[in-house]
Amino acid sequence: MISVEQALDIVQNNIVSTLKFERIDVKKAMGCILNEDIISPMDMPPFRQSAMDGYALCLNGESTYNIIGEVKAGDHYQPNLKKGEAVRIFTGAPVPESANAVVMQEKVTIKQRELFLESAVSVDDNIRPLGEQVTKGQIALKKGTSVSPAAIGFITSLGITEIVVYTQPSIAIVVTGNELVEAGKDLAFGQIYGSNAVMLTSALNKSGFQNVSSFKVDDDYNKTLDVLGQVISNHDVVLVSGGISVGDYDFVGKALQELGVEQVFYKVKQKPGKPFFFGKKEKKVVFALPGNPAAALSCFYIYVNPALQKMSGNMNYTSAKIKARSESDYTKKGDRSHFLKAIYRNGRAEILDGQSSSMLHTFALANAIVYVPETVESIKINDEVEVILLPIK
Ligand code: AMP
Ligand code: MG
Repeated sequence: MISVEQALDIVQNNIVSTLKFERIDVKKAMGCILNEDIISPMDMPPFRQSAMDGYALCLNGESTYNIIGEVKAGDHYQPNLKKGEAVRIFTGAPVPESANAVVMQEKVTIKQRELFLESAVSVDDNIRPLGEQVTKGQIALKKGTSVSPAAIGFITSLGITEIVVYTQPSIAIVVTGNELVEAGKDLAFGQIYGSNAVMLTSALNKSGFQNVSSFKVDDDYNKTLDVLGQVISNHDVVLVSGGISVGDYDFVGKALQELGVEQVFYKVKQKPGKPFFFGKKEKKVVFALPGNPAAALSCFYIYVNPALQKMSGNMNYTSAKIKARSESDYTKKGDRSHFLKAIYRNGRAEILDGQSSSMLHTFALANAIVYVPETVESIKINDEVEVILLPIK
């Protein structure tokens, strides 16, 4: 059985960004990865802008100026100032060519049309230079950048409406289990409502993956073979839930083998999520996650999401890890690494009760996972622990 560290390395080393790219509307690009350098078609800002509400001055080395006019945001007006003259100006307004500084209105006294400086003003004060952020023809954002709200705003501020991004991977979720019933339907004795398809779909969507379909299959070898065969042909990534353990009705491993999916690893020395399979077939990848919901979600955050990020061109993505002080004592049973559902706040992590791999209740309260490596046997209150922040908000 391989360690968590080995499993993480193996997954990352086996993922390549094989995806295509497409031109899309900037407004729809949230979470996508740029597949082109964005070359700025203009200077930003496109003219010298006032950074303050105040007065634009043509400096004369004195502290008294004559006010000769006014320029507000959006004006085209470019008054011609001579030395010793000033114009009233507002934030975002074009600073006249003939002015060489802006003084904040709080730092002057005005008497009729005369302005008195209350403190020294230097050349270029409070003026945003032409092209301060980016000049025409420069790279505004590099290929590989993850498109954030700020990036969407910045690209739009350059007048650009379409960008080239990596095409999102198409992802299939296949849940297995005779016992699973869709929420909203009646539940017979022995059945449960399936949670993993909607849970994994939501986690994928939250991490920026929208191209997701889900399928359900009974614990039947031929049906499993049939459904897995189809989804592997039609998708870039397949996430299977359940049926990968050692029970008599766990058919996923055998079906994947039959379908020619190469096993890269099976079983990781971790809790939850020991029966975790990673395989590939040409450029397609298959993650078979344990059916227990908390184990499946844990594997998703630790392995699957970082892998999908890399696959979709987000080469520098890593899970958000920080150090925190533990708010709880915890004693580990066994020698596996543990991923513990926790609440992180203000530099401290509270390890929650109810860490069983079947317990989604605990996961639903958590905003973080505390990682306890193989070598650590127990955690005492105030010990430093490694925390993985969940991408849930
Ligand atoms: P398995 O990995 O198939 O042996 O399933 C392990 C446990 O997870 C069993 O208790 C299953 O009933 C449960 N389980 C499997 N799939 C799901 C699902 N989609 N939603 C909720 N529980 C599930
Ligand atoms: Mg099962």
